Amino acid sequence: MTTSHYIAGRWVEGQGSDCISVNDPALGQPFAELMAASVAQVDLAVAAAREALPTWKQVSANERAAYLRGFAEQLGQRREALINLQMRNNGKPRHEAEIDLDDAIATFAYYADLAEQLPERNREVALAAPGFTARTRLEPVGVVGLIVPWNFPLVTSAWKLAPALAAGCTVVLKPSEVTPLIEQAYGQIADTLGLPAGVLNIVNGKAETGAALSSHSGLDKLSFTGSNSVGSQVMRSASAQCRPVTLELGGKSAIVVFDDCDVDQAVEWIVAGITWNAGQMCSATSRLLVHDGIADALLPRLQQALETLRVGNPLTEEVDMGPLTSQAQWLKVASYFATAREEGLQCLAGGKALDRDGWFVSPTLYADVPVDSRLWNEEIFGPVLCARRFSTEADAITEANDSRFGLVATVCSADLERAERVADALEVGHVWINSVQAVFVETSWGGTKGSGIGRELGPWGLSGYLSVKHVTRCLG
Ligand code: NAD
Repeated sequence: MTTSHYIAGRWVEGQGSDCISVNDPALGQPFAELMAASVAQVDLAVAAAREALPTWKQVSANERAAYLRGFAEQLGQRREALINLQMRNNGKPRHEAEIDLDDAIATFAYYADLAEQLPERNREVALAAPGFTARTRLEPVGVVGLIVPWNFPLVTSAWKLAPALAAGCTVVLKPSEVTPLIEQAYGQIADTLGLPAGVLNIVNGKAETGAALSSHSGLDKLSFTGSNSVGSQVMRSASAQCRPVTLELGGKSAIVVFDDCDVDQAVEWIVAGITWNAGQMCSATSRLLVHDGIADALLPRLQQALETLRVGNPLTEEVDMGPLTSQAQWLKVASYFATAREEGLQCLAGGKALDRDGWFVSPTLYADVPVDSRLWNEEIFGPVLCARRFSTEADAITEANDSRFGLVATVCSADLERAERVADALEVGHVWINSVQAVFVETSWGGTKGSGIGRELGPWGLSGYLSVKHVTRCLG
């Protein structure tokens, strides 16, 4: 049992009714458990954040930046423990767990810099009207609820916490019940740094805890990352209170491969885009659009690359891909394998769960998938790739855009002019040209269409936690 809720600067035991099991997905067995926070504890966390707000927003930008640098440094000092916990609870291969940690560190360091520059963004505004002057003042939005999923817990929380604290907001973070331990590091670091009590609160729990937070009248904003079904419930709670909401939701993203690509390089990009984190990425490029001129050479190589991927327990074996993180996700992916069989899809690789303990599936490739297939249209959130061929650039763009989602896309071509043209035509929030899944803190993250509302990272991520005020003066 773990004491796992950080409220008003104190660690407390959960008083909710749900017991949360923390599992090792490579074994399919629990290794810790904790009690969820009760609704009353969510109230206490929001009250603590509200009480801390007036003082925290008066703390100088430089001092807030120093705390953020402290977070970056302290994450680095916990390096081995945080990498191991991600390997054990998420099933991430070591190199992926390392990259997640480095991403979280870079995020805190970046927003420390932006916090320092905040005073410069308060400025005089030139007015055309004679007799008036005005100035802009950027203020923190206030108390913010942050709800996150389990696939990149350290990173997703950093993308919200760092800009929120930089802006001068106070926060209540609710991690996923699948990975409730890793974000406790943020509470421990707050303790170590002497962050004022109530600035950062963490409540763990399942849907009931999330709903208690997202519908809480004490919040000024909610930032949610997760599924579309829960995102729409969160948006409903926000709309009942006319409260702003940022939503980072699902995806069904395309990777478009033209016939001038080097086949081996293209295969490498395609494999990374669907097997990184065992495909449990909102940004997985799970729809492969491959040019007719290269398809016959590429598909057999891709099949071979997927079949020879080393899948196993990251804690005991050298692996390229670990297990799926939860049993629920494993059952969901297996149900898509069954649907593929019912739909009569042509399976070139995988298509089955592995016959061993733990929640493993084979990296999977279906070819010539019809556009009305459920597997072509729905987010599976596993290492399941669906491929189709195209003959013209226009067809590739039309098929890539034919989705209710619009998170990311990858374009692979030796013709950089064409790649830029296609990138401009894709209806998504982020396009990679001749690379996959490379996310830098200076760029934006977020989607169009059903993939969400708002942007994280870069200056846009900070703006999401700032409110713009103007002071207009009549010169008399
Ligand atoms: P989920 O929607 O099931 O859960 C997300 C969070 O919401 C969890 O903390 C959960 O406890 C909480 N929650 C559940 N029910 C709730 C309710 N009724 N009210 C408030 N909170 C509630 O998602 P998941 O399974 O944890 O994550 C997978 C999903 O997240 C995928 O759809 C994926 O695409 C998406 N995702 C998106 C991004 C992005 O940046 N766009 C990043 C990562 C994951």
